Amino acid sequence: MLLQNFQPHNVLITGGAGFIGANFIHYLLKHNKTVNLYNLDCLTYAGSKDYLMDLPESQRHYFIQGNICDAALVIAILQRYHIDTIVHFAAESHVDRSISGPAPFIQTNVVGTFTLLEAAKQYWQVEKKWQENHCRFHHISTDEVFGTLKKEDEPFSEKTPYAPNSPYSASKAGSDHLVRAYWHTYRLPMTISNCSNNYGPFQHPEKFIPTIIRACSTGQPIPIYGDGSNIRDWLYVEDHCAAILTILEHGQVGETYTIGGNTELSNLALATKICGLMDQYVPQKQPHHTFIQFVSDRLGHDWRYAINHTKITETLGWQPRHSIESGLRKTLDYYLPMPFSQNI
Ligand code: NAD
Repeated sequence: MLLQNFQPHNVLITGGAGFIGANFIHYLLKHNKTVNLYNLDCLTYAGSKDYLMDLPESQRHYFIQGNICDAALVIAILQRYHIDTIVHFAAESHVDRSISGPAPFIQTNVVGTFTLLEAAKQYWQVEKKWQENHCRFHHISTDEVFGTLKKEDEPFSEKTPYAPNSPYSASKAGSDHLVRAYWHTYRLPMTISNCSNNYGPFQHPEKFIPTIIRACSTGQPIPIYGDGSNIRDWLYVEDHCAAILTILEHGQVGETYTIGGNTELSNLALATKICGLMDQYVPQKQPHHTFIQFVSDRLGHDWRYAINHTKITETLGWQPRHSIESGLRKTLDYYLPMPFSQNI
């Protein structure tokens, strides 16, 4: 397989104090021994510098507290640190919050992405006059931009039309379209990835899997939306990080890649699986699954997401390495040794 090669040197990571961004920083410092990372994060409720403790080779990581919507700050960072690569994670990311208050989603996800694209165009193309192979903008997106699937539908792929259903997914779809347009119009060298649900260390307590683990370990009811039949595909976060690095180094400029874990599970099946593991890790008098409690469904709740990742597998050689069991065990190893009040 003949692959393109791009070598990042000075990388701006946005949202690197959040769940996936922090995991990516750990992963990149471990797997690339020369790259310098500049982590721009404004530390919303979802970000924490605690996730960046114990970094391998931390002298190659620089934290900058600031907002991606601050155009003057973003261009100053590109110029000062000679940024040749942007990996853009920063986003408002929780669907429930987008339903109760969509404004920050439009601001960060749409306006923030636009601000980064404008700064990259100005610095790379106007000031440096770099060619396509000297710089790269990788945009992290979600499978939620494709809307919802019925049971019999084919999984999402790069060819699936966009049909976002929540303010969150609509704002992510808007940002994807902007990134694509900057390639089509200005030839700003970009790649996009649309990934399914991630799980693993550093995830915010409000998300589904940390909520189940916390409820299990404190003997609280385990809340499941509706009847628990909604289906998601799950990917261990380290496998997502490996996919992002693969795209960055070998992906085709102007292309989109869908990324998934081959693990379609209903919310009820996933919760039951975690309860089974918790029965081994933290045995209680009653099996943990007896604490499952169905709660009112989320408004406009998408029924099923699934991913066909043939393109990245066949063209770049990436595939998920963790099964749901091995990924969940690593996740529990992270959350369980420490007191829950600190961790989740
Ligand atoms: P997260 O909410 O855990 O982290 C987001 C980070 O961005 C936080 O550290 C926050 O402080 C920072 N941030 C938010 N607004 C900012 C702003 N205006 N300026 C600077 N920093 C800002 O999110 P996550 O789960 O790590 O998701 C990262 C990216 O991956 C998002 O773009 C999301 O859409 C995408 N994604 C997530 C999943 C998932 O399962 N979590 C799946 C597919 C795609």
